Amino acid sequence: MSKTIFTGPIIFTNAKENPILNSGAVLIDDGEILAVGKLSEIQRINPDATVENLGDGLLTPGLVNLHHHLYSSLARGWNPSGNPPENFPEVLERIWWKLDKALQMEDIHYSAIVGLGESIRSGVTAVIDHHASYGTITGSLDAIAEAYQIVGQKGSICFELSDRAGFNAFDSGLNETINAFKKWPGISKNNRLSAMIGLHASMTLSDDSLGKIADTFKDHDAGYHFHLAEDKSDQDNCRAKYKMRITERFAEYGILGDRSLAVHGVHLDETEVKLLAGSATNLAICARSNQNNAVGFPEWWKYAGVNIGLGTDGIGSDIISEAKSTLYASRHVRKSPNFGFGEIGELLLESNPEIFGKITGHRVGRLATGYPADMVLWRYNSPTPISSENIWGHYLYGLYNHQADSVWVNGENVLSEGQFSRFDYNETLVKARILAQKLWERI
Ligand SMILES: [Zn+2]
Repeated sequence: MSKTIFTGPIIFTNAKENPILNSGAVLIDDGEILAVGKLSEIQRINPDATVENLGDGLLTPGLVNLHHHLYSSLARGWNPSGNPPENFPEVLERIWWKLDKALQMEDIHYSAIVGLGESIRSGVTAVIDHHASYGTITGSLDAIAEAYQIVGQKGSICFELSDRAGFNAFDSGLNETINAFKKWPGISKNNRLSAMIGLHASMTLSDDSLGKIADTFKDHDAGYHFHLAEDKSDQDNCRAKYKMRITERFAEYGILGDRSLAVHGVHLDETEVKLLAGSATNLAICARSNQNNAVGFPEWWKYAGVNIGLGTDGIGSDIISEAKSTLYASRHVRKSPNFGFGEIGELLLESNPEIFGKITGHRVGRLATGYPADMVLWRYNSPTPISSENIWGHYLYGLYNHQADSVWVNGENVLSEGQFSRFDYNETLVKARILAQKLWERI
């Protein structure tokens, strides 16, 4: 790949200095950003580089989604039979566990392509997935990894270990995780994909199982990815069975750490917050999912010292909409109409890339020298001026729910003027609809 200078749109670099560039340019070579600055200056120093004028719009760094369930894509429009759930355990039993157990290999694969494709179109270039398919365990992570490859996406994958489908299924999940690290190490410079150790949640993991997991991975450098106190019932279960709170239980098994990712953290007490902060464990909050499941809302502004970011929890792939919902829910809960605007901008634009970097070893989230060329071109012609002071307002009220025009991952143009470069998206959707129909009939 030869040196290319991209110019034309307003550029938001997300760097501390000169975050907005008019008449700016990004120089890339071999998938990496070599320089960002004034077009005239970059051209003068690199006269041999090809210049590509992208036209009007806004060029931004790719976004990060810290917690997705790509296997949920084929649930859209499904009407589960039986009585509707009355509480969170019933949501799991009557919807998600029924669905995940019925998934076959092709469903898993196409579901992941759909979710990753929608992520790219939402400007997300790094997705951390949390997978479950208790009817098809062995090879399921390969089917997902292949989907990342087809779409051209980067991220991290894991299988959510749980006792819920019996001991044999638990062991198969453990083997799937062990094998994952042979193919996608926790940290690898040359790999777009890495693996994590996935856990469902405290309530579906016995002490025997947690002990087995901790023993298996005691010398491993990968982080854990787990649901933490999403619903009060999880804490109640833990206190009744183990006489302690969930974060304390996980700490005993060495599951916390700066490369681990807890998700939700809705029902935490002060001791647990201190444990997360003290161990530098990362926390992804998922406002839309929490509201949808009526499990409560994490008062994350009280979680002093915890690294907090945002995930969509499979409710969609659009992380800007997630940020918008987090803002509204936080204001609603605090009864404070001026809370959180800048703070939530920091969660999405600062914390999410930083947490992704700690987990995978890949720096992302800025258009700056030394970063991979993960870029999003939005055909966004704003009715108001764009500046470094108000760019977050344009994300929340202009770019949200917008489809990206073009996207680059590691300098590769994976979406060009709305069309995917590596595969036929419409064919994928035709296939997904057929698979979804059969899946619904099977459940
Ligand atoms: Zn989740």
